[in-house]
Amino acid sequence: MKTIGILGGMSAASTQIYFRELCDQTQARLGGLHSPELLIRSLDFAAIERLQVNGEWEAAGAILNAEAKALEQGGADLLILATNTMHKLADQMMTGVGIPLLHIADTTAQAITAAGLSAPGLMATAFTMEQSFYTDRLRDAGLLPVLPNEADRAETHRIIYEELCKDITLDTSRAAYVEIAERLVAQGADCLILGCTEVGMLLNQGNVSVPVFDTTLIHCATALDQALQG
Ligand code: GLU
Repeated sequence: MKTIGILGGMSAASTQIYFRELCDQTQARLGGLHSPELLIRSLDFAAIERLQVNGEWEAAGAILNAEAKALEQGGADLLILATNTMHKLADQMMTGVGIPLLHIADTTAQAITAAGLSAPGLMATAFTMEQSFYTDRLRDAGLLPVLPNEADRAETHRIIYEELCKDITLDTSRAAYVEIAERLVAQGADCLILGCTEVGMLLNQGNVSVPVFDTTLIHCATALDQALQG
């Protein structure tokens, strides 16, 4: 089994989901006492969030690059960056790194295409929804992302940073997310990307009327596929 390097802490709430999910999926696939070979580097998200807000992306990318190199040196065979937003910096992160990065947008796009769907609603941070690094990658994969309106984007983003990244889940926010998701369906979305690694804390196939693609769960499944290959 290959060792998966997880660059996480963005947020710690979602890195816990990655750990649990990778453990559960390994058990489901291999049984017995099997558990995944992992190296988890969990950063202090407060420092990263400051850099995001201040637009200091270059500095954030330098941190990710140093951490990716450390994970490689520590013995990781492949890397996953446990946040959609920070994939904005994927190229800088991987500069001078010899092991592969499993890009979260690519794994998600492949799952949507395999399901025969093409117009995913996207609920994510404002960075992911409003900048082009993520939506262009989906479009390059042949998908037509459907974005929430301005007020819904702001509310989606607020709930991520004020609640979900602090491991807070509120029924009122779940209800707000369900309404935002259904407005995307009314706009023509044929499925929904949970495009932030914490959104699955509120939304899932049980409360959304179209097929749900949870980036965290897909990322874990694909990483495990690769870890168990060869
Ligand atoms: N985990 C989130 C994401 O998937 C947001 C936190 C961050 O900005 O990294 O985008």
